[in-house]
Amino acid sequence: MKIHEYQAKELLGAYGVPVPGGEVAETPEEVFEAAKAYDKCVIKAQIHSGGRGKGGGVKLANSPEEAKAIAEKMIGMQLVTKQTGPEGKLVRKVLVTEATNIAKEYYLSIAVDNENAGLVIIASAAGGTEIEETAANHPELIVKEPISVYEGFHNYKGIEVARKLGLSGELQKEFIGILRNMTKLFLEKDCSLVEINPLVLTEEGHLLALDAKVNFDDNALMRHPEIVALRDVNEENPKEVKASEYDLNYISLEGNIGCLVNGAGLAMATMDIIKKFGGEPANFLDVGGSATTERVTAAFEILLSDPNVKAIMVNIFGGIMKCDIIAEGVVAAAKNIGMTVPLVVRLEGTNVDRGKEILKESGLAIIAAEDMADAARKAVAAAGGAK
Ligand code: ADP
Ligand code: MG
Repeated sequence: MKIHEYQAKELLGAYGVPVPGGEVAETPEEVFEAAKAYDKCVIKAQIHSGGRGKGGGVKLANSPEEAKAIAEKMIGMQLVTKQTGPEGKLVRKVLVTEATNIAKEYYLSIAVDNENAGLVIIASAAGGTEIEETAANHPELIVKEPISVYEGFHNYKGIEVARKLGLSGELQKEFIGILRNMTKLFLEKDCSLVEINPLVLTEEGHLLALDAKVNFDDNALMRHPEIVALRDVNEENPKEVKASEYDLNYISLEGNIGCLVNGAGLAMATMDIIKKFGGEPANFLDVGGSATTERVTAAFEILLSDPNVKAIMVNIFGGIMKCDIIAEGVVAAAKNIGMTVPLVVRLEGTNVDRGKEILKESGLAIIAAEDMADAARKAVAAAGGAK
């Protein structure tokens, strides 16, 4: 799960990381009022995507009037950044925050390190909006230091990173404090990423988190109702939001063949085989082991609400979940919502013969498939052929 910059900064602030003052606003009038607290302020679009600075979503205002004028343009705009896709994202809220006098910008994050089954500190003295380019073209400017989740953070790790960034004396102490608190936040709230970019050295000589991104492990959210309360479904893909309401593991993709599968492994294999035959999956979808008619119906509704979907491939291996139950679910769902695209079904496993009979007796225009390859071939053909 993702949250907004202003929420990430509130969390970091609560963990003792220095952040600038600020207030979130939804109208130009609110921006005007909030801006009165500052000589100069920065208006920042709050969307769940980075790259806002370059896209025009971060603007300096020298007065409350100017802040209001900026907000009039920014609130309600479709902000396009390199992370939003060409359609951009609607700006509903902005953060009005103190303008900081920046002497230098650093990058600092803690991420999951799959290779070492732990965490990793990633840092750079070349932080700011160019960090992706720096990482790609000058990897030597990126410092990495693993942290064990069992041992947690130790000062010597912080000293090591600080030295490599050229931070000494008081600044080194501030830096280590920030890292310690970021690690604490990461572990206590089950984060998957805690990122500060830029962490700035102010002209007054202190470190300050000017931008922040905190992501959470969805599987641990049941332990953190206070984090779930920060969710902004406006920022999420509506199809994925609906899927989560029905406990469906769904991820929206760009292709034109909708997939409805039981089991994550089979769902991955289904996407692979569609690609092997020259097609493109429109989604990943695992309906899980307890697919009821209601959930299968919801799954079909989600697939059909995607205008790109030109065919649907159902791929079920009945184990604990029997094929006849799934077939009944498919038929009921297809009848409930009216299938508007060709439906290819491959069933295998427990009670498969009864399952196939049910599909046949339904009178629905279902394209039956013998095996996975046959299903993929038929789905690709039904969706308009291989690309
Ligand atoms: P994004 O990462 O989405 O582009 P940032 O919050 O990192 O957004 O802002 C981009 C750049 O704008 C920063 O690298 C920094 O140079 C500048 N900036 C952001 N917030 C402030 C602020 N409060 N005061 C001064 N400059 C800022
Ligand atoms: Mg940033």
